Amino acid sequence: MFLRELNKPPGSVKGVGEKTAADLVLSGISSVAALLTHYPRDWEDRSHAAPLKNWSRGPVCTTVKILAHDWFGFGKMRTLKIHVEDESARAVLVCFNRPFLGRVLEIGKSYRLWGKFYYKYGDIQSTSFEVEAETGAAAETGSTRFGGILPVYPLPAKLGRVPSRGQNLLRRLVRQALDQYSSLLDDEIPASVIKTGGFLHKAEAIRAIHFPSSRAELEHARQTLIFEELFYLEINVGRRAAERSRARQLQARSSAAAAHGASLSPLQSELLERLPFHLSPGQETAIAEINADMAFADEAPGNQADAGGGYSMARLLQGDVGSGKTLVAFLAALRAVDEGRGRAGQAAIMAPTELLARQHAENAARLLEPLGLRPAFLTGNLKARGRNRLLAALADGEVDIILGTHALFSKDVVYRNLRLVVVDEQHRFGVTQRQAILAKGETSLLKSGAPHLLMMSATPIPRTLALTVFGDLDVSVIPDMPPGRKPVKTHLAKESNAAKVYDFVRKELEAGRQAYFVYPLIGDDAGMEETRNTQANLKDAVSMAGELQRIFPQYPVALIHSRLDDEQKREAMESFRRGEIKILAATSVVEVGVDVPNASCMVVHHAERFGLSALHQLRGRVGRGGEKSYCFLIYSEEEPRQDGDDPAAARPALTDDGKQRLRVMLESNDGFVIAEEDLKLRGPGQIAGIEQSGYLRLGIADPVRDSGALLAARKEAFAMLERDPGLLFPENRVVAEVLERAPPFTETAM
Ligand code: ADP
Ligand code: MG
Repeated sequence: MFLRELNKPPGSVKGVGEKTAADLVLSGISSVAALLTHYPRDWEDRSHAAPLKNWSRGPVCTTVKILAHDWFGFGKMRTLKIHVEDESARAVLVCFNRPFLGRVLEIGKSYRLWGKFYYKYGDIQSTSFEVEAETGAAAETGSTRFGGILPVYPLPAKLGRVPSRGQNLLRRLVRQALDQYSSLLDDEIPASVIKTGGFLHKAEAIRAIHFPSSRAELEHARQTLIFEELFYLEINVGRRAAERSRARQLQARSSAAAAHGASLSPLQSELLERLPFHLSPGQETAIAEINADMAFADEAPGNQADAGGGYSMARLLQGDVGSGKTLVAFLAALRAVDEGRGRAGQAAIMAPTELLARQHAENAARLLEPLGLRPAFLTGNLKARGRNRLLAALADGEVDIILGTHALFSKDVVYRNLRLVVVDEQHRFGVTQRQAILAKGETSLLKSGAPHLLMMSATPIPRTLALTVFGDLDVSVIPDMPPGRKPVKTHLAKESNAAKVYDFVRKELEAGRQAYFVYPLIGDDAGMEETRNTQANLKDAVSMAGELQRIFPQYPVALIHSRLDDEQKREAMESFRRGEIKILAATSVVEVGVDVPNASCMVVHHAERFGLSALHQLRGRVGRGGEKSYCFLIYSEEEPRQDGDDPAAARPALTDDGKQRLRVMLESNDGFVIAEEDLKLRGPGQIAGIEQSGYLRLGIADPVRDSGALLAARKEAFAMLERDPGLLFPENRVVAEVLERAPPFTETAM
């Protein structure tokens, strides 16, 4: 059987109790397959002894004798210190929250010890260490802590309260699951490829990725699994590319269809007549290309109603922030509704955040309802009744255009005749989500085949990726801004000069304009997570909202960040859009897509902490109307001190990279230039938002990092498709696995 078919619940692994099984399921590990593909994030080599005296060279792995127990601190803070020694040195184990170790580790006895040590107050110390009784055959063989190279897993929240216990639990479960099931696993890469590529068989690879017997074997397993994922990715890409090029050959013969198709559909013309402005040349070209694609699909042989399959548009629309992509999306949606192959077609427009989806829904209501269309907004927190009514309307074809987040593609959403899917800010979604989207068209009630796909992004995709991962897409570019725009003026300011920035913003407010203030943290009550993530007291949105209200008493301030509930976010955004709120104190939730043309000032505090693409996106929130707009990047040169900080330890906040980023922002307004600089600064592994967003997150492969393997996989996959164009893998198993596990998109707080 194939790995993904191991869909028994984790409770079927021997030794998994009910509580643990439930925790695993809640953490998204809902099957044995998911457990086995919960790949380690790292491996610890505990196969060689590393004595205490070599603590500075890496983790210690040795046998120690317990010398003494010792306590420090008072009350709840009372903490156990255990003095130990091996043949090379003495050391101290600091047992925060682990007083029970006093009972476990008896004075005079010997234990195996593994840990990371540092030097403090004259001792070699460790706070993160693991111990195990030294004797006993059981400890030798079944040990999840010692002997060999051990996996270190990304810990699901439910298991992470005591990290070392969570790790050991997972190690035990995975080992047991391997014992029970790995011998059943079939290979997924074709046998010939395994042979020529020198890869491991699936069962071996899966075992070795968790419990390798050597570094070399680990590497072999990694390469095998990476290749497997990329191979399937490329089979998919290749298959679609081949379909499209066949269709293209047909298209050449019927260029009449293309010429006819590029003209506007009736609804499109109607919308354009109602707009107070003309399309920019870039928008015009983009919509002509989209129209030609869609028209051709309709006339292509084999694309008659009910035929299913065949050619459909797969186009990437790139245009810098503010270039007017939304309007192009609406126009494309109108065409989908217009034609619908004789029966009302439907379009779905998906955005990465509720905030943005709602903005699109409001625009759709404003622009499209007057044309007699029926747009609807599907939010994640609709009450059951409202949701059921909406879903019924969708299935009956009473909704023409639906806007929302990835909830648009949940299992229970059924379309009557889905003809077009628009994915806005597509770099925020996983590549693999495309598969789920396309599948929706195939399950439309009218069986109308794969819908047209229009993906939109302001983040240019580097060429190597465009060729490989997106090798099957056509690209439209909007190279210009709508007429009348003035470029945003960017200023850098030191934190100590913030008052001058406020003075400037005050003048803009007096002139009737609005301003955003963006902070790297949410603030106050926002929980432990972010305080742990930062060592410094940075300004945060919550406290600064109050501060801004004091600085600008006559201008209403509102606060917006990702932890507000949707209703509160909506309220804040809407009153800002209506102009009742003049100042918005925010985190980077406003980074993506938000469009309020009257806002003329973007002030970013601690700008040195933001990535280039985030800064560019933030700056893109202003300069959307005809008025001159400004972006102030306020930076601190030194990490703010905290009480009790060692004065000598104050770190400069402004790193060389930070300086370089600010310089790029000052010098360029062009998203393409900025993306290139971003690539240079960050290296190919972390292109503009890609890493955080899971843009390319497969299971273990990273198409950018593993570009060599990607090219090899592509070659094999394409060669195989060439030999057998009809080759149909039942399903892209790896991608499907990833899809099932894919976490829903979440807004980032930073
Ligand atoms: P983005 O490409 O960043 O998604 P939007 O679609 O949000 O940009 O458009 C930015 C602003 O430009 C919106 O307020 C929109 O109404 C306006 N706009 C779009 N097209 C034009 C145009 N041709 N002329 C003038 N304004 C336009
Ligand atoms: Mg947009």
